Amino acid sequence: MPSSLVKIRSARAPAKPVLSKPKQNLLGLSRAGLERFFLEQGEQRFRAEQILKWIHQQGVKDFAAMTNLSMALRAKLEEIAEITLPEVAGEQLSRDGTRKWLLRVDPQNSIEMVFIPENGRGTLCVSSQAGCALNCAFCATARQGFGRNLSSAEVIGQLWLARQLLAETTEAPSITNVVLMGMGEPLLNFEAVAHALELMIDDCAWGLAKRRVTVSTAGLVPGIKRLAERCPVSLAVSLHAPDDALRNQLVPVNRSYPIKELLAACREYVADDRRARITFEYVMLDGVNDSALQAKALARLLEGIPAKVNLIPFNPFPGAEFQCSRQAQIDRFREILSAAGLTTITRRPRGQDIAAACGRLEGDIAPRSQRIARLRLTETNHQPAPGVMT
Ligand code: SAH
Repeated sequence: MPSSLVKIRSARAPAKPVLSKPKQNLLGLSRAGLERFFLEQGEQRFRAEQILKWIHQQGVKDFAAMTNLSMALRAKLEEIAEITLPEVAGEQLSRDGTRKWLLRVDPQNSIEMVFIPENGRGTLCVSSQAGCALNCAFCATARQGFGRNLSSAEVIGQLWLARQLLAETTEAPSITNVVLMGMGEPLLNFEAVAHALELMIDDCAWGLAKRRVTVSTAGLVPGIKRLAERCPVSLAVSLHAPDDALRNQLVPVNRSYPIKELLAACREYVADDRRARITFEYVMLDGVNDSALQAKALARLLEGIPAKVNLIPFNPFPGAEFQCSRQAQIDRFREILSAAGLTTITRRPRGQDIAAACGRLEGDIAPRSQRIARLRLTETNHQPAPGVMT
C-alpha cells in the first residue's frame, strides 16, 4: 500500500454525527415570515394565513389537529417546525383580581407577565426582555440587571399562554388590551418586538386595534422613529422629570436622548394621526419630582403635543431610595396639569400585594437567590402569597 494513502487515511477526521437542523418555532413568525417559510418549503403563500389562525386564534399548537392542512404538510411540519412556549413556573392572584405569572424562558432566565382586569377591559402587561439594562433609579427590574432579549415567540407566547390560563379561571376574562410595560425596554429589542406587534394587530392572528396595543419606552429616540415607520401602535413615554438635570439621574438613558430630542420624536410620532395621543408616564417621587413648580414646568414642556399624562404613585420595593409622594401632593400636581389643559389621570396601583405593580417586576435572572422561591407558588395559587405581601 503506498504510504501516501495511509497518511490520508490516518489524517481523515472522525465521521461527524449527522446534525438535524433545529426546528423552526412558528409561534414568533408574523405573516411575512410565515409566507417566506412556506414558500421556501415549496408550499403556497396562503398557508401562512391558515396557520396564523390555528396558532393565534384557535390556540392550537399540535400540527396534527390542523385539519385544513393536507396530511403530508402536517407530517412535514412535525419534522421541521414546532410551536414552543415559555414554561409557567408560578402564578399569583391579588385581592384586586390582578394576576401575575412567572414564566421560565430558559434555565437561567424567567420573566413576569401581569393581567389587570378593570371596567370591562382586560389588560395584559407583557415583558420584552429578561431584566433590563437601563438602570432607572426607581425601578426594581433595574436592580437585577440585564439577562437577555426575548425572542418574538417569547413575547407573543405571553399572550398565547395568558389567554389559555385565563380561560381556566372562573371569570374567564378576555385580553382586550396589551401593554409592553413589563420587564425590559421594548425598543432595545426592536425586531422581536416588531414581529410580536405585527401578530397582535394582524386580523388573522390577534386582531387587536393599534390603539389597544401600547409600547412603553424610557425614551429611545431612534427606536421611536423606527416604530413609527414599522408598526405605529400607541406610544407611552416614561418621562418622570420636567428637566434634563433631574431626568439624567432618574432615567439615565436621557443622557443619550435628552428631553428636547425625545419630545420632537413624540410630536413626529403622532403627526399623521389626528386622533393619536402620546401617553406620558410620570412616577410620583416624594420631594424629588412632585412640586408645583415641576408640574408647571411639565405642562409648559408638553404644550402643543397631543398628550395625556399618567401619574403613577411610586411603588416601593425593598432597598428603594425613594418614597411615594403624599396623596395631597399627587392631587395638586394633577390639578396643575389639568388646569393647563392636559388630560391627567392618577393610576391606581394594582396587584400591590403580589408585587405586580409598575416597576416591581423582578422575574428571576441571576443572582437567583431566593427570588424564585418567593415567586413560585405551590399551595397558594388562589390567594396572595404571604411571603410577598408588602
Ligand atoms: N422600559 C419601559 C417599560 C417598562 S416600565 C419604560 O421605561 O417605559 C413600565 C412603567 O413603570 C414605566 O413608566 C416605568 O418608569 C414605571 N416604573 C418603574 N418602576 C416603578 C416604580 N417602582 N413605581 C412606579 N412606576 C414604576
